[in-house]
Amino acid sequence: MRITLLWLLLLGLCLPANGPAAPVGCFSGAKAYQQLKDLCALGARVPGSPAARKAGDWLLTKLKALGDETWEQAFTHKVRANHPLAKRDKTLSTQGLRMRNLVCRFRPRETRRLLLAAHWDSRPFADMDPVKANRVKPVLGANDAASGVVVLLELARCLKAQPPGMGVDIVLFDGEDFGEQGHLDEYFLGSRFYARNLGRPRPEAGILLDMVGDKNLRLPLEPFSRQAAPDLQDRVWDLAEGLGLGDIFVREPGPAVQDDHLPLIERGVPMIDIIDFEYPQWHTLQDTPATCSPASLEAVGRVLETLIREGL
Ligand SMILES: [Zn+2]
Repeated sequence: MRITLLWLLLLGLCLPANGPAAPVGCFSGAKAYQQLKDLCALGARVPGSPAARKAGDWLLTKLKALGDETWEQAFTHKVRANHPLAKRDKTLSTQGLRMRNLVCRFRPRETRRLLLAAHWDSRPFADMDPVKANRVKPVLGANDAASGVVVLLELARCLKAQPPGMGVDIVLFDGEDFGEQGHLDEYFLGSRFYARNLGRPRPEAGILLDMVGDKNLRLPLEPFSRQAAPDLQDRVWDLAEGLGLGDIFVREPGPAVQDDHLPLIERGVPMIDIIDFEYPQWHTLQDTPATCSPASLEAVGRVLETLIREGL
């Protein structure tokens, strides 16, 4: 004890005069990457599939052990009759397909809240695969978007270990990537449902993670986010720069991406999307854990952890 105190004193003498040292990070990229492999080992998370049921249950069990309040928000989507899955199973159009968002809250009664989200479903068809025969097969979705999911899981572990100073809502959306190209009405199903049923207290701001695991991670400023929440975007990119991650969180405009942040923005929640859309394996069978890295997951996780600890 004495030695520890002495070291603390010495450490205190070494602190820079202009402020406290950065808190020791809890977030582990290695732990997040292991969860990425575990989650992907369950199979492609196509809504309605046995693998999706298993993955959803797996995620819910993990989150229940971490959050103050955790539940599944179920909803039903009547699938368009021409959708490839509905052609195989007509009941998806008549009775509908059951989906579920997974919600995990920390400090649920706190009025100042931050929403952190990612989509947990994976795409039913690899329509960008270079091999034509593969385009009817499901995407494993390691980067798109299990990467965001495991960053939030690992973050939840850190928030359980040291509760946040603000309320945090971790939400995993279902049905983001369900639609065929050109049918935008069948994308973002979970975030649309969540946004329509937004309870109180409402989140003050939101951050979406999508495709944040790429080994060659490069995160430019997404334009819809810039328009909706410029202060939050600046805050996140400033914190990243302060952590020495300015080569990943680059200050240049990226492509405007239709994504799960838009339904929340429409409901008045200023929300940004942290996304690396330059991913050659996007919507192909090659979207596997091998294309992702612990270092990329850790970069994003550390920035979010710092934001939560230091405030918006
Ligand atoms: Zn996708």
